[in-house]
Amino acid sequence: MFDSDVIKKGINDQAVLQAMRDVDRRKFVSDKFSDVAYDDRALPIGEEQTISQPFIVAFMTEILQIEKGNKVLEVGTGSGFQTAVLSKLGAKVSTIEINKKLFKESLKRLTDLGYDDISFYHGDGNKGVPGQSPYDRILVTAAPAEIPRNLLGQLAKNGIMVIPVGNQSEVQYLYRIKKLNDDEITKDKILPVYFVPLIKS
Ligand code: SAH
Repeated sequence: MFDSDVIKKGINDQAVLQAMRDVDRRKFVSDKFSDVAYDDRALPIGEEQTISQPFIVAFMTEILQIEKGNKVLEVGTGSGFQTAVLSKLGAKVSTIEINKKLFKESLKRLTDLGYDDISFYHGDGNKGVPGQSPYDRILVTAAPAEIPRNLLGQLAKNGIMVIPVGNQSEVQYLYRIKKLNDDEITKDKILPVYFVPLIKS
């Protein structure tokens, strides 16, 4: 269970805080990290990838403004922790992971934990998941150098996308994109962040 750190840093949405409490982060990291599973920091999950820092998960979820029943695409399943938080909020979640091992592990983990309403995909999230589009919300948990066009194309009208953008060598920023219609978006630069790269296949 998380202590009040996440709250102290300024997450106000009660539903998000409840979802963060409902998903046991210890079950998403290997046993050797049990002691630090609830610390507010990113942790290794193998394959040179990390489970994001809890504050960032909560913050990204809060600014995504999920409504029950929203169709949500997550790019970068990783451990599946963020996936579970989105699902707890009543979203219909599709998630895509490029790494085969992490894809298999997160599918098994979330199935074992009883999540039976999540669609898992193995592949390159730069291309999105066309079959289920358009999405009310898109959340990207790895950083591309530029916002992938296909993802913008798969965002529904009035949809929101939260995405870190920037090269590994420069400061990345978290952006919130709102799609007003097919050729009009608004782009808010929210926060400097550090994410692993969104791999191009
Ligand atoms: N949401 C995850 C964070 C994982 S880190 C969690 O809560 O654990 C980002 C993940 O994005 C990694 O697992 C990485 O393998 C994956 N990734 C990187 N490039 C990708 C791509 N092009 N398509 C899909 N997943 C990608």
